[in-house]
Amino acid sequence: MTTPSATPSATPSATPSAVPASAPLSDTFGLQLQHMRDDLLARIRAQRGGAVGRAEAAAARKEQASGDWAQDDAEQDLCIAMDERETAELTALDQALQRVADGSYGLCLDCGVNIPTARLHANPSAMRCVACQEAQER
Ligand SMILES: [Zn+2]
Repeated sequence: MTTPSATPSATPSATPSAVPASAPLSDTFGLQLQHMRDDLLARIRAQRGGAVGRAEAAAARKEQASGDWAQDDAEQDLCIAMDERETAELTALDQALQRVADGSYGLCLDCGVNIPTARLHANPSAMRCVACQEAQER
């Protein structure tokens, strides 16, 4: 039995209603990004659901025999770590969608060159050209 009360509000963030028809690149990747975002949200939701389920089961177990906190803590740490990674991914997708909306998608954030389409295909949420990304990570 799961309670849907703990589901994070799926904020219907700024609807990218007006995608300029003059930008086929943003169009293509905008849809892809939207799709990736939906997928990710579904994954996060499923994960949280699973975590809640497990936490409830653990709590029920603890009422009978309180003893293995350590294991539960480890499990929770893992959940939080995954959460952070996925939150970062979600942020990247949101930023990319924002750039689709304002028309700057596909341009390097730092130097302004067109990010190669191949790179965008590999990583639609990429915001920098390879050179700038490498400089950023260094
Ligand atoms: Zn660049």
